[in-house]
Amino acid sequence: MTFRTRFAPSPTGPLHLGHAYSAILAHDMAREAGGDFLVRMENTDLQRSKPQWEALILEDLAWLGLTWTEPVLRQSDKLDSYEASLTRLQDLDLLYPCGCSRKDIRAAAAAPQEGAVPDVYPGTCKHRDMASRQPGDALRLHMDRALAIFGDDLPGYSETGPKHAGYHRIAPEQALSTIGDVVLYRKNDGIIAYFLASALDDVAQDISHVVRGEDLFDFTAIQVLLLALLGLPVPAYHHHRLIRDKNGKRLAKRDDARAISLFRAGGKTPGEIRSMVGL
Ligand code: GLU
Repeated sequence: MTFRTRFAPSPTGPLHLGHAYSAILAHDMAREAGGDFLVRMENTDLQRSKPQWEALILEDLAWLGLTWTEPVLRQSDKLDSYEASLTRLQDLDLLYPCGCSRKDIRAAAAAPQEGAVPDVYPGTCKHRDMASRQPGDALRLHMDRALAIFGDDLPGYSETGPKHAGYHRIAPEQALSTIGDVVLYRKNDGIIAYFLASALDDVAQDISHVVRGEDLFDFTAIQVLLLALLGLPVPAYHHHRLIRDKNGKRLAKRDDARAISLFRAGGKTPGEIRSMVGL
């Protein structure tokens, strides 16, 4: 199997050292394996994603010396393609409409923060069927029914990252108590949940190894579950360590002081950035 991986930033801010580490690591792993490295813009958050961030990100990646083997895929160019998967889940009777508050629904669509697994939904709208769908309703996954489809044979995935290496089979109690009835779609803004779009594109792009930060580890179970429900292949995952600031906090987009573009402007070389992140 060809090793194919990707760097999939959300263009909502500048690349910082943590992103540089992630991108360089994925790139190096692909090169070492004689495989492919791709770049994907995860811009389904149409309000926060900006073309100028995307341009800067691509400039930074090129400056770091990274090359990608295929044109950059932009999720905003293929929003319609995600609909087919939702229809399939609906046909399996695994979706229900939900008119509950917007806050947790947005959390599912936005790029995730460390430890921010979408809150487990209390099930207020769980009794509703799709025929009762109102304009503006979100669509949730009916987790109990989803689990019933698998019976005792829940899907799993291989992890090769340092912290969680091994094979992980999804456990029903994990699915019910830490994932729950996640929002997969919010109609008004045409917003598909980040983790669904991302997992679908990993398959669409034939990604064999998803290389990304440990902050995203908690999303893997739901992504694997959704892919298995859709009858799609599950890639292997490699969650790498995070680059932290001197207080031990994970770097975020707002940490502009560590933006690659500023290091560039300040005269740092790509080699110096590599050693700053321990590569
Ligand atoms: N788009 C996500 C982010 O920027 C990364 C998704 C992934 O690598 O799976 O945080």
